[in-house]
Amino acid sequence: MRTFPILVSFDGKPPLVTGGGELALIKTRLLLKRAPSVDIAADEVSPEIKTLAAQGLVSLVPGRPGIDQLRGRPLVIAATEDDEEDSRVSAIARALGVPVNVPDRPELCTFALPAIVDRGEVTVAIGTSGASPVLAQRLRAWLEQELHPRLDALAKLAAEFRNPVAERLPSGPPRRKFWEAVFEGAAAEAMLEGDEDKARALIGEAIEEAAEKPAPRGRVLLVGAGPGDPELLTMKAIRALKAADVIFYDRLVGEGVLDHARREAEMIEVGKAKGAHSISQDEINALLVERALSGQTVVRLKGGDPFIFGRGGEELDALRDAGVAVEIVPGVTAGIAAAASLQIPLTHRDVSHTVTFLSGHEAGGAEPSFEHLDLAALAGGKNTLLVYMGVSTAGLIAKKLIDAGFRPDLPVLAVENASRDDERRVLATIAELAAHPERLGLNSPAVLIFGEVAGLPASGIVEDILALEEVRYA
Ligand code: SAH
Repeated sequence: MRTFPILVSFDGKPPLVTGGGELALIKTRLLLKRAPSVDIAADEVSPEIKTLAAQGLVSLVPGRPGIDQLRGRPLVIAATEDDEEDSRVSAIARALGVPVNVPDRPELCTFALPAIVDRGEVTVAIGTSGASPVLAQRLRAWLEQELHPRLDALAKLAAEFRNPVAERLPSGPPRRKFWEAVFEGAAAEAMLEGDEDKARALIGEAIEEAAEKPAPRGRVLLVGAGPGDPELLTMKAIRALKAADVIFYDRLVGEGVLDHARREAEMIEVGKAKGAHSISQDEINALLVERALSGQTVVRLKGGDPFIFGRGGEELDALRDAGVAVEIVPGVTAGIAAAASLQIPLTHRDVSHTVTFLSGHEAGGAEPSFEHLDLAALAGGKNTLLVYMGVSTAGLIAKKLIDAGFRPDLPVLAVENASRDDERRVLATIAELAAHPERLGLNSPAVLIFGEVAGLPASGIVEDILALEEVRYA
């Protein structure tokens, strides 16, 4: 069963449980954690249920409920443990569109009961779409330990101050930032420690202070998203994503990365594939400035590291010119991630003493001339070249390196989609690459690693450009 979690209101009609035995009792007790009362449909009920009825928590209705008894219920749990009767109740409920659960009969259910961590006002519900109740219970046990037992008091305090805060602070970022500061600060700590008076006083002071403050100025965080694998995000990057009002992200940013963003954050994709820019760099710069000046926390999220071929420098200049506060959060750049994945050191005492980051494209999409580089000097030394944006110019780059004096049998590794599930690696020599670049069969994004280190033993599957030919031309 594929499910979507929601929190159901018990303010209207009471939920209905059918059955009068042990299972019905367990489910009723669960519902009573939130429902003011539960209706139980059964002809006979256990003594425990009778006690609940005497306490006014349960109302007994006759067994075998029909359409009229089921209509309008927030939910129904069929727990008579009589297969036929449970199926009958489930069928009526489904026909009426009333959510129904029959324990251990997923085919008769329209909703699942999650594992619950209960902290009063705060509820954490855990579901595994039926895949593993044991896993759900383990997560529950872990969260029980992690979540402060007095979280409920904190939530109630927030509810108490909701209106006073709304009256004094404008909605949107100012209000949200106020609450973030409360939950991170001394007021929350005092409340969790049980000092309610202190917590109230601190929140009161914080409201006065925030209301008198001038509107906050926005800022821009230039954040490196790493090469794709969300595990390679830094803690700072995640914090930035959680704080953002708006996120301008590049196409290269991995899917799972954006999952860490604040749910309400506005997400705007700006970087397109090379050569297909839908929005110019000047336009991006202008957008960043505009949003920051309007008071927003802006995250500019870029693949890899923002300062390695990411045009982060240009954005920084534009923001500084406009007087916007900027913060840079570095990221794991693609070349470093590729080397890590292959377990190839980029510097190595014996074979490589320097690393050079190169772009395989000139600004404006032109082929690289490398005129600004002393390739001959690099050819002589123990150096590793990391070439970015070099997929379509790989053959040309290889030729230029040979012309500059690089050894034709120097190894090259091409790594496509480094750190992602679909990572691919191909090994060649410069000469092979110069002669048959098309055989790499590479798609963007990919980095090329030129140098002795590319010939060191690599971890995982590495295709060979010559073998690729055999496969393709066999
Ligand atoms: N700022 C980025 C680079 C942006 S330029 C960084 O630090 O990684 C875009 C180039 O980065 C691509 O053409 C490719 O060469 C490289 N690249 C980005 N992500 C990559 C990945 N997951 N695998 C291989 N190369 C990648």
